[in-house]
Amino acid sequence: ELASIVPSAAEAHLSLMKAHRIEGIVKPLGWLKVYAGEKSFAGTLEERQTIERLGANVQTLNQDELRQLEPALSPHFTHGAFQPDNHFVTSPLKLTEAYAQALIVLGGRFLGEKVTRFEFDGARVRKVITDLGMHEADNVVVCAGAWSGRICEMLGFGVPLDTERGYHLNIGAEDNPKLSRPVVVGDHSFVLAPMQDGIRLTSGIEFAGIDAPPDFRRIRRMVPLAQKALPGLGDKITREWVGCRPSTPDSKPVIGVASGIPNVFLGFGHGHLGLTLAARTGYVLADLVSGRVPSVDLMPFSAGRF
Ligand SMILES: Cc1cc2nc3c(=O)[nH]c(=O)nc-3n(C[C@H](O)[C@H](O)[C@H](O)COP(=O)(O)OP(=O)(O)OC[C@H]3O[C@@H](n4cnc5c(N)ncnc54)[C@H](O)[C@@H]3O)c2cc1C
Repeated sequence: ELASIVPSAAEAHLSLMKAHRIEGIVKPLGWLKVYAGEKSFAGTLEERQTIERLGANVQTLNQDELRQLEPALSPHFTHGAFQPDNHFVTSPLKLTEAYAQALIVLGGRFLGEKVTRFEFDGARVRKVITDLGMHEADNVVVCAGAWSGRICEMLGFGVPLDTERGYHLNIGAEDNPKLSRPVVVGDHSFVLAPMQDGIRLTSGIEFAGIDAPPDFRRIRRMVPLAQKALPGLGDKITREWVGCRPSTPDSKPVIGVASGIPNVFLGFGHGHLGLTLAARTGYVLADLVSGRVPSVDLMPFSAGRF
């Protein structure tokens, strides 16, 4: 069911970026997973077969081909799975800022207020109450990531939404070894990605709720493994970050109209794919809010499926 929206995700970003002249942030550099040894690579067979069955391109690479693609990687990696058609965001912050600017140019505004409750007129929401005031609303779109469950409660219904928290840290050094694309070290489930401001090490799924303070010990413990994977990588940590992946029990987002509240639209729960699917979901929500029929069947993504 996710395959009904994921394959067009990059196209949606490219189309939105083209419309707003946003350039140079999203690049078709592919997604590479590497393994040290036949056994661990063989364990990914079902995953690779599933990707192919769903129509995506995944190539198997041997040690020599890996070295040609990413010469700086440690030679102890013997097997790779490469998805050449995947796109890579070199700076999520810059992409987000560029989209925000595009919205402002179109007449949108960012208020920076915290929604605390809603007022109804019959079945429809008429007012959004925030910590700083009140806003009349023709339509309401709930896209508050992992916090969307709390917003839905304010609207009078529940969704089983939790957060898979994840961590990254940036190793920023001008003499970092060069990577050309994000690389997943499959045996240890971490990603090394060449961002605009250094090599980013990402890992972890932590079930600790939204409000727990971050615990950076685990991601810091991955640094020696990252240095083994990418010899010459320094240890100058220039930034640490924790984020909340908004996750549902079946790993699918909630996209659609809220049941019984015709002017409330839902777009959250994208888990590990929230950046990937942001533009795609945006187009679907734009269709719904504008009264057009979206090009995708939304039944699998309905809040009522739980
Ligand atoms: C370590 C890590 C790595 C990841 N890597 C990838 C990746 O490679 N590719 C990918 O596609 N995804 C990735 N993700 C997932 C992606 O980051 C999320 O799915 C995405 O950020 C969710 O976007 P969102 O807009 O739904 O929610 P968010 O980005 O969390 O935004 C929610 C917004 O709602 C606001 N909000 C909350 N409560 C209220 C309220 N009461 N009133 C008003 N506003 C409110 C918040 O302030 C926030 O601005 C990663 C996540 C993590 C943690």
